[in-house]
Amino acid sequence: IIYNSEIVGIDYQGREIRKLILKNREIVAKNYIFCTGGKSYPLTGSTGNGFKWANNLGHHVKELYPALVPIKIKESWVKELQGLSLENVEINVFQKDKKRYSAFGECLFTHFGLSGPIILGISKKIGELLRNEEIKSVEDGIKQFNTVKISLDLKPALDSEKLDKRIQRDFRKYQNKSFKNCLNDLLPRKLIPVIVKLSNIAPEKRVNNVTKEERCNLVKLLKNLEMTTNGLLGFDSAIITSGGISLKEIDDKTMRSKIIDNLFFAGEIIDIDGPTGGFNLQVCWSTGCLAGENAVK
Ligand SMILES: Cc1cc2nc3c(=O)[nH]c(=O)nc-3n(C[C@H](O)[C@H](O)[C@H](O)COP(=O)(O)OP(=O)(O)OC[C@H]3O[C@@H](n4cnc5c(N)ncnc54)[C@H](O)[C@@H]3O)c2cc1C
Repeated sequence: IIYNSEIVGIDYQGREIRKLILKNREIVAKNYIFCTGGKSYPLTGSTGNGFKWANNLGHHVKELYPALVPIKIKESWVKELQGLSLENVEINVFQKDKKRYSAFGECLFTHFGLSGPIILGISKKIGELLRNEEIKSVEDGIKQFNTVKISLDLKPALDSEKLDKRIQRDFRKYQNKSFKNCLNDLLPRKLIPVIVKLSNIAPEKRVNNVTKEERCNLVKLLKNLEMTTNGLLGFDSAIITSGGISLKEIDDKTMRSKIIDNLFFAGEIIDIDGPTGGFNLQVCWSTGCLAGENAVK
């Protein structure tokens, strides 16, 4: 292992790499493995230059996108919830009122929008929907925006009827209190002022004066806290990169390039990406093992 030595160029001829060029030396080997990672978290060294080398050598690089990445939310009230983590919630993703994806689990509010396991997991799909929005804008010649909505169900275990009964019970328990002071059993403290504001029920209204219609709207709000996503954070914050060296150009038994005879690939540089849960590291280890075993043969 040679530390702190950046490869700045590749010398090749025909179907063969001849040497690697470093800043102050060259390396000649029988076989070479490109395992330079994706483009995400460039601070860790993965700046994406392996894609350029492979491309120069004749490989196709499937378009690169940030994946497993937090999302931006347009509504300014999310900032008030910064740091709030919600477990056992459901998110549903809509584009133009059509439900496209859903996920259940934990999500986290941040100063720019949403993060946490379910958001990271679904971010690639959200990125695709946002790109659809751009493509449609170009095709139709009409700028489309704000078409991708996230609906957060804060109480997925209760259907609307059960949730309404639950709220009525709490309202009875706190019957002499103002509306803003009777949601403590139902919601995390940080969420209450935001829900009170979005409910359009006067915060100081005595809870026994809240109308049935207002209560029904509160149920709808808790089952469908709607947000508009207007983008993903970039590669700097993405756990992985989706896209990469086309799988069609790699022999999957050996990880050998089908274009350059003495070149192998391993890890995130390849066009494979998986969900959270260790799958991406496993891809790196498995492809690294195969590439290593075959490169020394
Ligand atoms: C914050 C974070 C959390 C993650 N958590 C998980 C997780 O829980 N589970 C999971 O499965 N995956 C996770 N991942 C993803 C996983 O870490 C990566 O997919 C994996 O490390 C990629 O391995 P790799 O060897 O392909 O590339 P990298 O680990 O990126 O290594 C590439 C190496 O190539 C070097 N390099 C690049 N260009 C040059 C050059 N020109 N000259 C010399 N050296 C160069 C870089 O310095 C770097 O050392 C996480 C990623 C991040 C950023």
